Order: sequence, then structure tokens, then C-alpha cells
Amino acid sequence: MKRIAVIGGGLTGLTISNFISKDCDTEITIFEEKSEKKLLDKTSAKIVLSYSTVEILKKYNLWDKDSFRPNFIDKIHLSYSNSLGSTTISSQDENLDFLGAHIQTDFLKKKLIESIYSNKNIQLNSGTHIFEINGENKKQIFYSKNNKNSHSEFDAIIFASGLDLLKDNYFNDKISKEYDQTALVFHLKGSKKSSSIAYERFTDDGVLALLPSEDDWLVIFSLHNSALKKYEEVSDIELTKKLQTLIGKKVGEINKISDRFKYPLSLSYYKKFSHSNVCLLGDACHKLHPIAGQSFNLTVRDCFILSNSLKMDNDIHTVFNNYQNLRYKEMKRIIKFTDFLADKIYRLPIRKFILGKIFLVLDFNKNVKKLAVGLITGSYLYKKNINNMKAYD
Ligand SMILES: Cc1cc2nc3c(=O)[nH]c(=O)nc-3n(C[C@H](O)[C@H](O)[C@H](O)COP(=O)(O)OP(=O)(O)OC[C@H]3O[C@@H](n4cnc5c(N)ncnc54)[C@H](O)[C@@H]3O)c2cc1C
Repeated sequence: MKRIAVIGGGLTGLTISNFISKDCDTEITIFEEKSEKKLLDKTSAKIVLSYSTVEILKKYNLWDKDSFRPNFIDKIHLSYSNSLGSTTISSQDENLDFLGAHIQTDFLKKKLIESIYSNKNIQLNSGTHIFEINGENKKQIFYSKNNKNSHSEFDAIIFASGLDLLKDNYFNDKISKEYDQTALVFHLKGSKKSSSIAYERFTDDGVLALLPSEDDWLVIFSLHNSALKKYEEVSDIELTKKLQTLIGKKVGEINKISDRFKYPLSLSYYKKFSHSNVCLLGDACHKLHPIAGQSFNLTVRDCFILSNSLKMDNDIHTVFNNYQNLRYKEMKRIIKFTDFLADKIYRLPIRKFILGKIFLVLDFNKNVKKLAVGLITGSYLYKKNINNMKAYD
């Protein structure tokens, strides 16, 4: 039986371990430096899972609608504040049941961990820090746990370790870009209850995403750093006034704003993310701007292809090489799309006019809408591959 090491027990490490163990006869060890308690700590983080992600999770019995309590998103309304053009893309454009499902990240994590605990072929080694990797065909992993150093041998390594630096010893063609933007994230309550519509409102200060949440709205405001202070350091009353001006009555009268959290925004990815029997996955491979909610959704499609490739071929080198070849194109496409919305648009001198025009054209052109929906939901993969599981198509 093959032995695979997965470095990192975030969403990516937990997802790929579940997929591989269901697809192949493989022994998997997840190394996670956080303690088990920290791994299960409650957070307020939320995530939008795209249509294809939900379909893939269903295939692996990892979708639990009752405990996830999703807010399904059927429509996304795009507009630029104080401009005429706007458009709405809808699940109906591509005959899908929904575009995305907004859930609490903890619920998914809990489900993934429970499934791992019930699987004798996966070992979750928490509180374990990897500090070195050696060897060619067999890889030796050196780790410390409870102040004691040890090592183990594996046939392959999957780095699912987010932005750590250890992987840079193996992969050296990293592309990175600082956006000079910060995401300000908070919840708000309005007099209108959230429905199944999400809003993406372009403003001069950055892009404001309004996502329907249980009984309120989640705001992810990707602000240019020059404008951050205007929203970060003001009172809730002042912020309410500013938001109300930017979004009008989309949520009705805003009557409550939660604590605000902020995250610096950047892009990083590797042109080559497989090398011999080592590969990169998740944020370790591509970390994107959150504007289109694509980072983890792209990862789930990567996991699906990688796991199915492993099912079809015994040779790890071939599998990782195929994974690189099959996934590079889509990764680049999603990066271009995200980077255009997050950054390129803001470099255009008459962006309000151009975006308004783009939205108007989009609004009348069913084919372009269909393409946009396919891109953000990954539905092409669902239609092409999921049903017959042909990862090599
Ligand atoms: C505000 C915001 C909103 C977002 N919304 C969405 C969305 O709607 N849709 C979407 O698809 N994505 C979204 N994302 C992105 C998504 O959350 C991430 O892509 C995803 O959580 C990354 O998971 P990961 O497991 O790859 O990385 P991480 O979560 O960083 O996990 C890496 C793990 O590896 C461990 N580790 C690192 N180094 C070592 C080592 N040497 N030894 C042992 N363990 C190690 C770390 O402790 C960590 O637990 C959003 C992100 C943000 C910030």
C-alpha cells in the first residue's frame, strides 16, 4: 500500500485526504502543526462553496445539508456605484440549481475531521511541525512533536501547508503580487432579510461583496489601502452612513454592524506545482484575491482531479505530472479573471464607464452570462467529468 504524507490540516489537507482515501488503497498521514484543540477551535469565518464544489462533496459523502445549514445563492447582482450599467447573473443561465452555498467554515471542517477519524487509513498527526524533507524516490519527513524530533518515510508528499516557506526549497518559480488592498470583513443587519441574491458593488474605494448569511449579511469589502482608514477607524454609526450611501437600500435600513476583521490581500501561485513525487495543493499552490470566492473552490476541483488521477495510475510521478498538466490552464484562467476584477479594472482611467458598458453588454448577452456562470461555479467540470469520473479527459 502506498504511503502519502499530507503537510497541513487546513481545509485543503483535510479535503484531499478524504478524497484519496475513498478513491485509492493508500495510507495517508496528515501532519498539522496546530494542536487538535486549536484545529477544532470555533471561528466566525464563512465561505461560499460553488455549485461544483457542492456536487463533488456530495460524491464523497461530505456534504451535509442539515448540519451545514447553507444559504444558497441563486443570483449575483453586479454594479458600479453611481453608474448606469448593472447586470444579474443567475443559476438559471446555466440551468443549475444554485450558484453557490454560503456556509460556516467550521461546519465543513468538522465534517471533514469526523470523516477522517472514522477512516483507519488516515492518521491525523496534530501538534506536529515539519521542518525538513529529504530523499528522492522515498521521501523522509523530519518533524517535531512535543519538543521531540523524529522522522518517517513516504512514497509521496502533498504540500497543503498554505503560505509556509518549506515548500520553496522544492518549488522556485513562485509568482507573487501584493495588491495594496485589505479585506475588511464584518456582518451587518438590515431591515430587509437576506435572500438568495449576493451583491458585488464596485466603488471608487474598492469592491464591496454582500453575501446572504443566516439572518444577516456578510460584507467583504476589498479596500484600497489608501481608503482603509475611512472605513476601519470610524464609529459604527459613521460606517453605517457610508455603507448606506454605497449600497443604497439593498439591505434596507442598516441597523447593526458586527466587529470588523481585516486581511491583507495578495496573489501568489506557482507555474510548476508538481516535481517528481512532491506536489502543491490549496493556498500552498495558488492563493487568490477573495473577490470571486475562488481559492478553495478551485482547490476542490484540483483535489478531485488529483485523487481521480491517483485512482487510475499507480505511478506517482506520472500522476503528479498529469495533475500539473490538467490543472494549469484552469488555474491561470481563474487567476486572470480574479486579477482583472480585483486590480486591472482599477488601473483603467475611465473604469466606471468601461465597467458600466461591460455590465450592460453582459446583461443582454446570454452566451457571455453562461460563460461567466461556468467560470465561477466550475460547472463545466461537473458536466464533463464528475458523472463518469474521467479525470484524464
Ligand atoms: C476573507 C476571506 C474570504 C474567503 N472566502 C472564500 C470563498 O468564499 N470561497 C473560497 O473558495 N475561498 C475563500 N477564501 C479562501 C479560503 O479560505 C482558503 O483558500 C482556504 O482556507 C485555504 O486552505 P488551505 O488548507 O490551503 O490553507 P491554510 O488554511 O493556510 O492551512 C494550512 C495548514 O498547514 C499548516 N502548516 C503550515 N506549515 C506547516 C508545517 N511546516 N508543518 C505542519 N503544518 C503546517 C498550518 O498550521 C495550517 O493549518 C477566503 C479567504 C479569506 C481570507
